[in-house]
Amino acid sequence: MDFRVGLGYDIHRLVENRRLILGGVGIPGPRGLLGHSDADALLHALADALLGAAGFGDIGEHFPDTDPAYHDASSADLLAVVRRLVSGAGYALVNIDATIVAQSIKMAPHKAAIRSNIARLLEIREDMVNIKAKTKEGLDAVGADQAIAVSCVVLLRR
Ligand code: MG
Repeated sequence: MDFRVGLGYDIHRLVENRRLILGGVGIPGPRGLLGHSDADALLHALADALLGAAGFGDIGEHFPDTDPAYHDASSADLLAVVRRLVSGAGYALVNIDATIVAQSIKMAPHKAAIRSNIARLLEIREDMVNIKAKTKEGLDAVGADQAIAVSCVVLLRR
């Protein structure tokens, strides 16, 4: 059996008048993440981790932000494309582990919904997905509440 690990990371700026969407789940509040598409930093980090594990580059290569086709595209749709690429190469997911880093926005109430939604999007069991959340202890841009960052690791087997 061939096992491959992949690492993904993303960060988006927090701004007024945007919906906050992480893992495809809407998180109520006055601010959201700025960016191309829906700026779902968790699904972007996850897609990059999947591409990385399979040796398929990164989402910037597959979905260039200069391409109007991806303007306001749902990150769930991008993830579905990545999932097909990875499964088409014969890989199956073993597990996903992600850490959301946000200063003042409380993630704990949303972790279960995010876990469940990622499992649904990838058609895997919930116990194959783990979502962690932490603050930046007030340090750097994330700690100043100017951004949310996400790190994600996946393991694939073939
Ligand atoms: Mg992104």
